[in-house]
Amino acid sequence: MYYNRGRLKKHKKDKTKRMNLMIEELFRNIFRCEVPLPNNPLRALNSYVIKGEDENLIIDTGFNCKESQEAFIKNLIELQVDIPKSKVVITHLHSDHSGLAHLVFKRGGQIYMSRGDGAATKGLMKEDNWIAMKKQLEAFGQRVEGGFFDKHPGRLYAPNEDFDYTPIEEGETISIGDYKLEIIAVPGHTPHMINLYEPQHKIYFSGDHILNPITPNIGFWGFQYPVILNQYIHSLKKISSLDINLTLPSHRNVIRDHRGRIDELIAHHEIRLQEVENILREAERSMTVVEVAEGMSWKIPFDSWASFPPPQKSFALGEAMSHLEFLVYKNRATLKKEKGLLLFSV
Ligand SMILES: [Zn+2]
Repeated sequence: MYYNRGRLKKHKKDKTKRMNLMIEELFRNIFRCEVPLPNNPLRALNSYVIKGEDENLIIDTGFNCKESQEAFIKNLIELQVDIPKSKVVITHLHSDHSGLAHLVFKRGGQIYMSRGDGAATKGLMKEDNWIAMKKQLEAFGQRVEGGFFDKHPGRLYAPNEDFDYTPIEEGETISIGDYKLEIIAVPGHTPHMINLYEPQHKIYFSGDHILNPITPNIGFWGFQYPVILNQYIHSLKKISSLDINLTLPSHRNVIRDHRGRIDELIAHHEIRLQEVENILREAERSMTVVEVAEGMSWKIPFDSWASFPPPQKSFALGEAMSHLEFLVYKNRATLKKEKGLLLFSV
């Protein structure tokens, strides 16, 4: 169901319809469409649709699973949006955003992604990706046995058929109806993530770059993407300088004060960096990434590190590593490699 300002009153009387509310018009012809993400703490994706005269823009898709696919298609039917008459921008490689790329492609939609995240999304279908990830986790001190990645969302819910996409990068624009959207590169959450900014109406689609109230995961993508946490903070500051009235993120709540939220996110990482530095200082010895992650506080409902399911372990280890790498970059910690293990100390 969706409402616009005219229909809202009518729906308020009908509790059932309000509970099923999946589409909401946030600005003229700009719709937030909820796509459920089953068995995932993010709960749902905010996929956005901008309706134009002859052409529409869709931002992000949902997991490649039955529940996401049904909702994604149902939302488009409800909005009378035809996939062949739509441009589909996928902000980044994560499967809650890219999962239905193959479906959109098969149905004649035109997909736009950054070249880097587009290639990485296709890479999720290849075994090489998972062999490389296993090697990386082992360098962190994590034992990776058979089945470790079986429940990883990048394995379970990524596109499972090939698709074509048009590479898009910062400086390019997409015009739909009254809106002229600029592509902005915001490396950090992924190495080649893109966002969209509409300067005339001061609307910004933040993907997973800026979320509220949850905090975007900043992982580790290999030393070929150096100091990714620093890149992320740089990307936050870049957005802070923009004139924005309405920030539309890919999960949870819209943001009215983007600068306030950016300040909170930067403060969050400063606290996290201090926490990691304290763990190294108190240990008075070299530590693996796993040992550091075990000592960090995590807002997830598991009692101990040992009880974290493997996907949560991978995300947590990526986060620990990105903070450790940043401390080394700032000369607050040192890194040495020993027998294939990364070891950190202060
Ligand atoms: Zn993401």
